[in-house]
Amino acid sequence: MIIIMNGQARAKDVARVLKEIKNLQCKPHISKGKERTIIGVVGDVHSISLDRFSALLNVEQVLRVSKPFKLASREFHPDPTAIEIRGITIGGGNFTVMAGPCAIESKKVALRTGHLVAKAGAVVFRGGAYKPRTSPYSFQGLGLDGLKILNEVRRETGLLIITEVLGVSEVSAVSKCADILQIGARNMQNFRLLEAVGKVRMPVLLKRGMMSTIEEWLLAAEYILKCGNPYVMLCERGIRTFEKYTRNTLDISAVPVVKRLSHLPVIIDPSHAAGHREYVEQLSYAAMAAGADGVIIEVHPEPDKALSDGEQSITPDQFGAICKKFKKIAPVFGFKLNMIR
Ligand code: PEP
Ligand code: MN
Repeated sequence: MIIIMNGQARAKDVARVLKEIKNLQCKPHISKGKERTIIGVVGDVHSISLDRFSALLNVEQVLRVSKPFKLASREFHPDPTAIEIRGITIGGGNFTVMAGPCAIESKKVALRTGHLVAKAGAVVFRGGAYKPRTSPYSFQGLGLDGLKILNEVRRETGLLIITEVLGVSEVSAVSKCADILQIGARNMQNFRLLEAVGKVRMPVLLKRGMMSTIEEWLLAAEYILKCGNPYVMLCERGIRTFEKYTRNTLDISAVPVVKRLSHLPVIIDPSHAAGHREYVEQLSYAAMAAGADGVIIEVHPEPDKALSDGEQSITPDQFGAICKKFKKIAPVFGFKLNMIR
């Protein structure tokens, strides 16, 4: 249920509504817009009559939310969410470029890649210390040593750090060194993990499951939001289809669809979508044209020697060319490109 206050509503009118919500054993979520305050009611609202609120002073309208996801919906939160991290704003008209290797392999490779992607225009460094690999015999990541390397990359380059958290037991260690926690596609419906990152109140990038509908994806985001963490961004990384020439199929239409349904920022991962480095450039531009708030790209100084996802990793030079073009086309699509400092 949502309660829309009119332009004349004062703090005491809002307080009166909040008291009523509390009396009904529900929880309020307040969204203060430029002109109006919108109060979302979360809880068992089915049996509550709309009249209970519509009669209160300066309540303009009371509506039932038609979507199964509430906090993630535009109805609850009409303005787009912008997430500020150490002076960089993700969303809100800014386009953010995140880049780095699939996995943290060594201090040398990570630092080298970090410096190169920063120079080219990335503001966020990606790299997994804990890797969700399909085969248990593949490189699983350096774990805690990888996190230490990420700390050094952050200190030396000034880049923000995004890295994956694979399980509930790692949330605490990963959240100490990351600026953004990544929830991988394979974990999109790991509900205990979603609740755990919902409790830490730091930015989370939630990847879309490879077999998940947009509604399931937004409901997964809802788990994080419901636990009190409002800093959620969504990442479309390709879904599994019958097509074999690409690793996954980038669902580019998910961008305008999600933007219409939700206020959360959307990031495109062209690397995991394509699976082959020769398609990453074009898909990156498609992300901006579709209205995504940024991209996350796998970059490796020597892709053929990468310990994971080398085939879809581009070189720092190729990445530099993409950033150069982003600078040119960003104004055409109404974006401001995020830069370090
Ligand atoms: C990754 O970002 O390296 C990764 C494993 O991504 P996904 O969860 O989308 O497969
Ligand atoms: Mn990868």
